[in-house]
Amino acid sequence: MSDGKSSKMRYVQTTCPYCGVGCTLNLVVNDGKLVGVEPYRRSPINEGKLCPKGMTCHEFVHSPDRLTKPLIKKDGEFVEASWDEALDLVAKKLRETSDKYGPKSLGFQVSCRTPNEECYIMQKIARVGFLTNNVDNCARICHGPSVAGLSLSFGSGAATNPFEDVLNSNLLLVWGSNAVEAHPLVGRRIAQAKLKGIPIIVIDPRYSPTARLADDWVRFNPSTHIALANSMMYWIIKEGKHDKEFIEKRTKGFDDLKKMVEKYADVENITGVPTEKVREIALKYAEAKNAVIIYCLGITELTTGTDNVRSMGNLAMLTGNIGRPGVGVNPLRGQNNVQGACDMGAYPNVYSGYQKCEDPAARKKMETAWGLKEGSLPDWYGSTLTEQINECGDPIKAMYIFALNPVVSYPDSNHVKRSLEKLDFLVVQDIFWTETCEYADVVLPGASFAEKDGTFTSGERRINRVRKAVDPPGDAKEDWEIFVLLAQKLGLKGFDFKSPQEIWDDMRKVTPSMAGCSYARLEKPESLHWPCPTEEHPGTPILHVDKFSAPDGLGTFFGLEYRPPAEVADAEYPFTLMTGRLIFHYHTRTQTDRARILHYEVPENYVQINTEDAKRLNIVRGEKVKVRSRRGESIAVARVTDEVGPGVLFMAMHFPEGANALTNTALDPLSKMPELKHCAVTVEKIKEGN
Ligand code: SF4
Repeated sequence: MSDGKSSKMRYVQTTCPYCGVGCTLNLVVNDGKLVGVEPYRRSPINEGKLCPKGMTCHEFVHSPDRLTKPLIKKDGEFVEASWDEALDLVAKKLRETSDKYGPKSLGFQVSCRTPNEECYIMQKIARVGFLTNNVDNCARICHGPSVAGLSLSFGSGAATNPFEDVLNSNLLLVWGSNAVEAHPLVGRRIAQAKLKGIPIIVIDPRYSPTARLADDWVRFNPSTHIALANSMMYWIIKEGKHDKEFIEKRTKGFDDLKKMVEKYADVENITGVPTEKVREIALKYAEAKNAVIIYCLGITELTTGTDNVRSMGNLAMLTGNIGRPGVGVNPLRGQNNVQGACDMGAYPNVYSGYQKCEDPAARKKMETAWGLKEGSLPDWYGSTLTEQINECGDPIKAMYIFALNPVVSYPDSNHVKRSLEKLDFLVVQDIFWTETCEYADVVLPGASFAEKDGTFTSGERRINRVRKAVDPPGDAKEDWEIFVLLAQKLGLKGFDFKSPQEIWDDMRKVTPSMAGCSYARLEKPESLHWPCPTEEHPGTPILHVDKFSAPDGLGTFFGLEYRPPAEVADAEYPFTLMTGRLIFHYHTRTQTDRARILHYEVPENYVQINTEDAKRLNIVRGEKVKVRSRRGESIAVARVTDEVGPGVLFMAMHFPEGANALTNTALDPLSKMPELKHCAVTVEKIKEGN
């Protein structure tokens, strides 16, 4: 970097492109190139701090590997094409498919790493252009159960309180979250709470870096959350520590819950946690003046995901820990715009702001706003992300994948590859060549976060500005612009946008909960939390203050029965595989592996195995082992450790031919979340010559 006085050097304030914390940072630009990152010190989110990913987020932008030209597959080979040729082909194929086979023959898959404006315009193309609800985003495979579960419990599927609010709490219950690695600046808040003397309970089968911050670390058998939560609630009620006034005035369904948890006094045989320990942590949580629940994918990525989330809601309502500072239920969103992609209606049953497609009034409103004939928008629940993969070939014939890499990030990679091969036509729009591009007919080069304007919405419902610092490389285009050009090729009306701001304003016009969030108001460092219905409204950092968001204003308890995972360890596959994220990588590493420091920290796939298991199998630290499931196999470096218990393995989700070569496609019936966190595997030494 130069001395900082160069007239060509400038700072561009923007939002980190990685996790859902949404840290503010400055991109340092010199001569039209990114040369560094500086934290933005006035941000209330990260207060001038960044994690290793944030500090290096500029490094991939000018990579020589970037896609710079549209590509069309001809005779099995990809050849460069003009934008006109590529978009003509995309428009023609999508239109032909829709005309021939109907609206359910198309699948639109939207990324959670792209700005809100691009999520909104893509779902609008799907709905206006093809009258289909087959549009979904990758929240489906991380926080779909949060959207479903919290909506059922509280009437809104979003986090209840801001991140910094943990410092107003008297107890942190961190469940199924390794925030220190997966959401490092929330991890910092947890560390600050520790320094302040706020007690921390971490419930996790693994002794993660976050568990090391805990006053009480509770190791439980993987995927037994509902049994454990029910037992905690049994003891809270038995000891009379529930908040009777809150339950009476603000909730319904308590009797169902009470009846259900009576069966769960002792769950040691299910969870592995001694009854006295369950009672102890339950009473600590209930007796704290203000207690907050923080959870993540350890709760959601299971076939019981929605019920697990509702169990968190049950616990919070039972103890009256809702609707004021220092309390609440807060899912930590994985990717930078997981919250926003859902908010924008890139979802198969809702428009922006969670207006339901099944509601005739909502459909009529959208038809009027979007210039469609009355009665034309579909009322049916579209296919979800992973259902679309299952439906490749029949009924889905053509698919549009925007900034996603399903071959690596969806469960059972072999199944995904076989499915994509069945499509008549596949478009992939991305910034790098990914494993999924191999299956495409057209590849369109898009722009990175640093090359476009827009907004990301963080896990605390805060809408943060994304600002363009440099131009995309070669012929690559800003993604919103690609969608505008495609809409023109399709002859669609209502897409003549000249900027992301115009798309945002189009969204605001039809979305009451974000109508007051103008770009001008988002300029402030603290930005705005939705709901924010008018230009005068201050935004809503804390939800459910006087009443819940449900139409009757009440929160709902659910009596939930424990169900085991879809696939449990047995004699043939005797280990339970858990998966998760690392601090040094993001998603399928297309961006982070191009930052030198991040690459060298974790250059290859590894698996954690318990010391006793490793000894029994004669596996030593650093040797390569083969992990197999009923669906595939993966080679990984063994890390021998007591962080995982006997019979349990842990593997990160970031590597090709890694965890998702093994994982199970079984779905949570309510949210359609696949069981990414739990499957049965075997581990073995690699014999010489293999
Ligand atoms: Fe980026 Fe998340 Fe790290 Fe903040 S905590 S710098 S948002 S990856």
